[in-house]
Amino acid sequence: MTQTVGGGVADLRALLNGPVFGPEDSGYDEARKVWNAANDRRPAMIARCASAADVAAAIRFAGDHDLEIAVRGGAHSPSGNSTVDGGVVIDLSALNHVTVDPDAKLARAGGGALLGDLDAATQAHGLAVPAGMVSHTGIGGLVLGGGMGWFTRKAGLSIDNLVSAEVVTADGRILRASATDHPDLFWALRGGGGNFGVVTEFEFRLHEAGPLVQYALVFWELDQGPEVLRLARELVPTLPLDLSVVIGALNAPPAPFVPEQYHFTPGYALLVTGFGDPGTHADVLARIRQALPPAFEFVTPMPYVELQQLIDEANAWGLYYYDKSLYLEELSDEVIQAVVEQVPRRTSPMSIVLFYRLDGAYSAVPDDATAFSGGRSPRYCAFMIAATQTLETLPAETAWVRSCAEALRPYAPHVGTYVNAMDDTGQDRVQAAYGPAKYQRLRDIKLRYDPRNVFHRNVNIPPADS
Ligand code: FAD
Repeated sequence: MTQTVGGGVADLRALLNGPVFGPEDSGYDEARKVWNAANDRRPAMIARCASAADVAAAIRFAGDHDLEIAVRGGAHSPSGNSTVDGGVVIDLSALNHVTVDPDAKLARAGGGALLGDLDAATQAHGLAVPAGMVSHTGIGGLVLGGGMGWFTRKAGLSIDNLVSAEVVTADGRILRASATDHPDLFWALRGGGGNFGVVTEFEFRLHEAGPLVQYALVFWELDQGPEVLRLARELVPTLPLDLSVVIGALNAPPAPFVPEQYHFTPGYALLVTGFGDPGTHADVLARIRQALPPAFEFVTPMPYVELQQLIDEANAWGLYYYDKSLYLEELSDEVIQAVVEQVPRRTSPMSIVLFYRLDGAYSAVPDDATAFSGGRSPRYCAFMIAATQTLETLPAETAWVRSCAEALRPYAPHVGTYVNAMDDTGQDRVQAAYGPAKYQRLRDIKLRYDPRNVFHRNVNIPPADS
C-alpha cells in the first residue's frame, strides 16, 4: 500500500464517489448528529460512502493517516460508538438499498439501511425479517449484536436469519461471509458487533408476516405493579409463539387512544401483538382482563409496518439518553419487588423499563451456533432507558438507570449481557457478556481479521495475543 495523498478532507474526497463532510462544510453539523444528543462529537471528516469500494478506500485512508475510525449505520448507539472526535466517520447511510426475492424468501439490505427500509421492502411481499421495534434504528448495529423484537419468539433473532454478509475488512478487502465462505467470520458477525469489519450488505431469510397484525396496549396504574408483573409471570411463558408480549413500566402517552384522564399517568402496560389467528389474540386479552381489570386498553388490528413504527416518536432523535440491559430468567418475587421499588424513582416521564420475552424460536438455536452474547434459555431482556429533554437533567436519570440495574443484578443469572445495550465496555464486562469460551473464540477470529484493532469503537473484542 503506497501513501499518495495528504490527510485532509479534500484528499479523502478525491478518493471516494460519495460526499465527504469536513468542519468547513455547510452539511457538516447535520452530518455529525447522532440519535443520542448527549454524544456531541466533532469528527475530522465524515465519509458518506457510496459503495463497498468507498468503504475500503476510507479505511485505507484512515490507516495511512493514523486517524481513528467510527462506523456509522443508523447512529443509534446510545454510548456514541458511531461517532468520534477528530477521526473519520465511515457513514453508511447511503447504503440503504433493499432488494427482495419473494420466491426464494431472501432479502439483501445495505449496511446502512434502517429497519423501516427493510420492513417497507419486505412487507410489499407479505414478508419480514425479525428485527427491532423502532423503525429509525439501523440494521447495521442492531443485527451485528443480535437483533430482537416483536417477531423473535416466532422467528428468532435477526442473526438467526442471516444468510450471508458482504464485509470490508480492516485491510480493505471485500469478502462475503456465509456458512461456506469465511465461516469463522460469519460466526463472529452474528453477535460479535462491529468488531470484524464493515458490513456493506446483509442477506436475510424471510418469513411470512402481516400485512395485518393484532395489537393491544393494556394499562394499569402504578400501584398495581406487583399484580401486573405476577400476571405477566403466569401468562407470558404459556403463550403460543404467534403472540408476543412486551412488559413496560412507562407513562401513558397523550395519544388519542388513551382516555384523557390517563395522559402522562405512570403505570405498567402489557403490549400484546398477534401474528396469527385474531381469535387467539382476543382470547389472551380476555384472560388478561378477567385476571386483572385494566385502567384502559387499546386493541386494534394494524399493518405490520405500523406496528414497527408505533414507538418511534417515544424514541425520537435529538433527546438525551442513557441505557442498560440485563437478562432475567424469571420474574421472581424478588425481581418484582425490585422493579416496583425502582420504577417510581424516575424523574423524567420519558424514561422507561421494558422486558422483551425471548423463547420459542430464540431458544431453538444452539448457544454456540452464533457469537450472540447471551445463552438461549427462555428469558426476559430488561432494558432500562433514561430519556430527557435536556443534558442537565440526564445525570439524575442516568443514576436512576444505574440504580435499577444494581437492584436487579443479583437476580440476573450468569447468562451474558446483550451487547447492543451495554455501556460499560471494560474487558472483564465484555468477557462476562460473552462467557469465556465465546470471548476467546472471538478474540482468535479478531486476530485473523483485525489484528490491529482498527474497529474498536464498539463493545470491543481485542485481538488474541499473537
Ligand atoms: P450505530 O450507532 O450506527 O452503530 C452501533 C455500533 O455498530 C457501532 O459500534 C458501529 O460502529 C457498529 N456498526 C453499525 N453499522 C455497522 C455495519 N454496517 N458494519 C459494521 N459495524 C457497524 N435492539 C434490539 O435488538 N431490539 C430493539 O427493539 C431495539 N430497539 C432500539 C430502539 C432504539 C431507539 C435504540 C436507540 C436502540 C435500540 N436497540 C434495539 C439497540 C440497537 O440494536 C443498538 O443501539 C444498535 O447498535 C443500533 O444500530 P445502529 O446501526 O442504529 O447504530
